[in-house]
Amino acid sequence: MKIVERPEPRITRPDEVKLQIIRVGVCGTDRERIAEGNAKPPEGLKDIIIGHENMGRVVETGSSVTSVKAGDLAAFTIRRGCGECMPCNAGRPDMCRTGKYRDRGLAGIDGFNAEYAVDREEYIVKVPEGLARAGVLLEPMSVVEKAIGEAEKLQFARLPDALTSPDWLYGKKALVAGIGNIGLLAALALRVRGAEVYGLDIVESSSPRVKWLLGIGGYYIDGRNVKPEKVDDIIGPIDMVVEAAGVPGLEFGLFDTLARDGIYAVVGIPSEELHGGKVVVHGAELMNRLVRMNLLVFGSVSSAPGHFRAAIDDFIKAEYRWKGHLQRMITAEFEYTDFKGVLTHKDEKEIKSVIKWAA
Ligand SMILES: [Zn+2]
Ligand SMILES: [Zn+2]
Repeated sequence: MKIVERPEPRITRPDEVKLQIIRVGVCGTDRERIAEGNAKPPEGLKDIIIGHENMGRVVETGSSVTSVKAGDLAAFTIRRGCGECMPCNAGRPDMCRTGKYRDRGLAGIDGFNAEYAVDREEYIVKVPEGLARAGVLLEPMSVVEKAIGEAEKLQFARLPDALTSPDWLYGKKALVAGIGNIGLLAALALRVRGAEVYGLDIVESSSPRVKWLLGIGGYYIDGRNVKPEKVDDIIGPIDMVVEAAGVPGLEFGLFDTLARDGIYAVVGIPSEELHGGKVVVHGAELMNRLVRMNLLVFGSVSSAPGHFRAAIDDFIKAEYRWKGHLQRMITAEFEYTDFKGVLTHKDEKEIKSVIKWAA
């Protein structure tokens, strides 16, 4: 890891937007890529600019750009399509079918820990001024919006009574496993929709993450005192589980907690280094449960511009309901020259650390 000089990116097409980067969030994926040294650089280069959770101010636009103008706050989406498959060509590279997509700051294209970034208009989302401080959380929130939005659509499609409530999640019991940044944002999205939300983790009740969860009316379950498969014995069967911890043993254990017709979204990605070992599962019991109880399990990754817009909507609702709480998720800000510590080490009290590129 080092700071290098690169030529300042310039607008070369009429549909491009140039962003002055203000803040970039640091997430577990960044630290993993750095620790394992496996981020794929752009073709012909030896290095990749890391960082995907971006927010900045538009400084220049190409002649055909209409959705943003100079001075607007905005964020870029991360995934760039393969150019071959139907979802990619329809603006949904998050559903790419060839697997030849690239992710800015993670694989194949430079990311956002830089003073400027240029990309096409189809990848930019305008951010309201009211979200100037929390805007850097839009990318992780967009990942959550995709998973929860899909769960709602799936439940609406298959449950005869789904349409009788304004939102399928309203009044439902939801469990979020792993209350890191993504888990807490999932809890927020679920609370905004009126769900009763329980967060499961293995941290002290005094942890800032637990406090943040309680601040939006969620409840904390200390996983050190209760096995995942026993959670429903305490709080009752769960209508929706969101797994954001990426711990395989836990992921299987949570099947047990689901209510009949329940849905289970998996967004946590286990790390081969940490969780590469085998997990013993009672296969017959698991598959029996899946069938007899009409359970639906699905995985969800990445996001598209529509999910960023859904994230903005929910952030605005959250601001209205729990004023100032959202930005308390940003527990530390670092000057870009101090990148080393924050990209290699996670502070125990961290919810989200961000790197500052401009005021
Ligand atoms: Zn991230
Ligand atoms: Zn594709």
